[in-house]
Amino acid sequence: MEKFERKLAWEALKGHERDKVFGFVEEYKDFLDKAKTEREVVDYVVEAAVKNGFKSIGEAERLEPGDRVYMVYKDKMVILAVIGRRGEEQGIRLVASHGDAPRLDPKPIPVMEDPDANVSLLQTGWYGAVVRYQWVNIPLALHGVVVLKDGRKVDVRIGEDGGPVLLIPDLLPHLSRKRLQDRKARQAVKGEELKIVLSNIPLEEEKEKFKAAVLKMLKDKYGISEEDLLSADLEVVPALKAMDVGLDGSMVAGYGQDDRVSVFTSLRAILDVDMPEYTCLMWVVDKEEIGSETNTSAQSLFLHDFLTRIISLRRGEFREDYLRRCFVNSKAISADVDTVIHPMHKDLYDKANAGRMGCGIIVSKVGSMAGKYRGAEAHAEYMAWIRRILDENNVPWQPGLLVSKADEELGGGGTIAVFIARLGMDVVDAGCGVMGMHSPYELTSKVDVYSCYLAYRTFYTAEE
Ligand code: MN
Ligand code: MN
Repeated sequence: MEKFERKLAWEALKGHERDKVFGFVEEYKDFLDKAKTEREVVDYVVEAAVKNGFKSIGEAERLEPGDRVYMVYKDKMVILAVIGRRGEEQGIRLVASHGDAPRLDPKPIPVMEDPDANVSLLQTGWYGAVVRYQWVNIPLALHGVVVLKDGRKVDVRIGEDGGPVLLIPDLLPHLSRKRLQDRKARQAVKGEELKIVLSNIPLEEEKEKFKAAVLKMLKDKYGISEEDLLSADLEVVPALKAMDVGLDGSMVAGYGQDDRVSVFTSLRAILDVDMPEYTCLMWVVDKEEIGSETNTSAQSLFLHDFLTRIISLRRGEFREDYLRRCFVNSKAISADVDTVIHPMHKDLYDKANAGRMGCGIIVSKVGSMAGKYRGAEAHAEYMAWIRRILDENNVPWQPGLLVSKADEELGGGGTIAVFIARLGMDVVDAGCGVMGMHSPYELTSKVDVYSCYLAYRTFYTAEE
């Protein structure tokens, strides 16, 4: 009798691979600390790529097998390629992840003051599926860029490296009994209550003393005015460093692991690719968390543009049908995180079908919600190929379903797989299991993180 059983990744990994897990994750933690916005993700990816022999595609006059190129768009999206022996019209291998993460974004005119509380405040809205009550009483940082009218860019990074942090103070229990009884849990903290305390020292002889003090600090330290904030990409993110979790140090807590765990592991995978049969692409998109609608999202034509240039540089000419054939002959992974059984909420999972922490990368044939609405689904033939290459290469992996119980009340979600599928590519969802997804401090298992790297590396180089 052959019945399916999930294997524990620690037990499935062979000795020499086991030894590499903790060291690999040290690098990953460093990445999580450095890359807390999509721009910082792109900077990190490009720096690592350049160190490993990738050149900007603008510098390439022609491309040969083994060549390594990258392209950046708007500093928020990046794509890397290692050119394969075969022409792109025979298909490519694509691993696509997203660099954005749920957070609080300052409003365009964010600074206000409360003369009764004697503080200045930063007004924010939220970006993506933020659970608002998780963002109070934790250290926060402000990252981003302010662009002046003359085009100069001012980098902002407040709340990191020992400097003062920012905070949203919650209401004390001594006053909140009735308020919390009356509110639904989702509304425990309301959107307009996501205001960040900025300062408490007044600027004497000014009308709005507390706001004036903040504006003076912005001018003195960064040379920016209140009006300059109208042209800024600023993000409020947790000022928390990634840390080991558990008595055995087997897990990692960190902000933005959805989906930077996929960014980092697919980056490390493509850096290992040398002279592949098929051209390998590693793509990081933006705006996944809010529906992929912008020119830096998975729905943009960036991938078309990049492949058009690759094909032109290899062949000396471009024809539309090369690109079409490339799309329909290609294999892709939508690299995004998945859910795992939560020990305190097991009733929400179907135990046979839900992913589990510590059983390796989660491969989901279906990535959507109950009823399969608006979701992508990998074809059985493609799923069979994925199973085969992972098993043949001893990659710890498991099947999973984001929403494993057939119940539309649970919610659901999707990934960029739907946008990749539109092009004609075969695509499957595969990524790391995460507990506390979308919270300011998400939890993963180190062996699962490492399994993702092994899976993406295997995918890039596996035979047909
Ligand atoms: Mn995601
Ligand atoms: Mn997400």
